[in-house]
Amino acid sequence: RDEDELEELPTAIISRKVSQTSVYLQEWDIPYEQLQLGELIGKGRWGKVHKGRWHGEVAIRLLEVAGDQQEHLKLFKKEVMNYRQTRHDNVILFMGACMVPPHLAIVTSFCRGATLYSMVRERAATLDLNRTRQIARDIVNGMSYLHAKGIVHKDLKSKNVFYHTNKVVITDFGLFGMSGLVQQGRKKTVLRIPHGWIYYLAPEIVKQMGPEVDEDQLPFSKAADVYAFGTVWYELHSGGWPLASQPVEAKIWLLGSGEGVRKELADANLGKEITEIVSTCWSPEASARPTFSQLAGMLERLPKLNRRLSHPGHF
Ligand code: ATP
Ligand code: MG
Repeated sequence: RDEDELEELPTAIISRKVSQTSVYLQEWDIPYEQLQLGELIGKGRWGKVHKGRWHGEVAIRLLEVAGDQQEHLKLFKKEVMNYRQTRHDNVILFMGACMVPPHLAIVTSFCRGATLYSMVRERAATLDLNRTRQIARDIVNGMSYLHAKGIVHKDLKSKNVFYHTNKVVITDFGLFGMSGLVQQGRKKTVLRIPHGWIYYLAPEIVKQMGPEVDEDQLPFSKAADVYAFGTVWYELHSGGWPLASQPVEAKIWLLGSGEGVRKELADANLGKEITEIVSTCWSPEASARPTFSQLAGMLERLPKLNRRLSHPGHF
């Protein structure tokens, strides 16, 4: 046995030198045949998500590929490289990926519990200030971890944050890198904005959007992630999205200019401390927004809850 292992060692070292990337990726390669595909949970803009089994319960995101497979495979592997290096309590557990076309899939732990999206809308009554603050702290910790790893989420929103047994899990970061892969047949004459997306988009992104612009070309950044967090924080305290009653054209204009948002905030009456955090995250200038580490500090410095906030907002 020992001899066998010794003989194998040099080849392993050589192949690592030949292609470090492909060797790393092999560790995360899950043969598609090993997956047990279960019920369809939902279909989002990046394809279908199934419940499934692979050494226990998992979530399986299937990606449909078309056209130039080599190009797509490269894109896909690049994203998988990002996923595999994340280990944080508030970030979804990446378990592996199927990397042999046509079966491209991402396998993660399965999130029980609800998304924040449905929590704030259906169970608002259970969200007291203690809890919203703890949720926000978890999100901020997960996000500052991702940013420290050089990963921009690009799609932070309440639908991509799960909450279960007092713990937050952030999902679906980096999928935007694969826009080109899943949106082959996109028409270049109309601008389609998926429902609810606009609220999380920083003005610098809204200004760049157009039918001609591919989504993976938009100016996503760490600061744009902070803008999106501002919206999640707003939802946590108001139970919904801002400007919800406005027609979509007005929303685009109001959000793009950053002006409508100020008025909305003044009207929402969430209390001074909460409003301050929303407005700094929603700063029209990206450079004026705090980092997630700074946000962590701001959350710490919120007044202790045994003292009343200057205005208790909705709760
Ligand atoms: P959008 O299409 O705007 O991104 P979404 O985030 O709801 O919206 P998907 O991310 O494609 O869309 O998710 C599809 C469905 O699968 C949703 O109902 C989502 O809550 C669920 N889902 C996604 N990932 C997991 C997971 N790891 N565990 C459990 N359910 C998940
Ligand atoms: Mg999602």
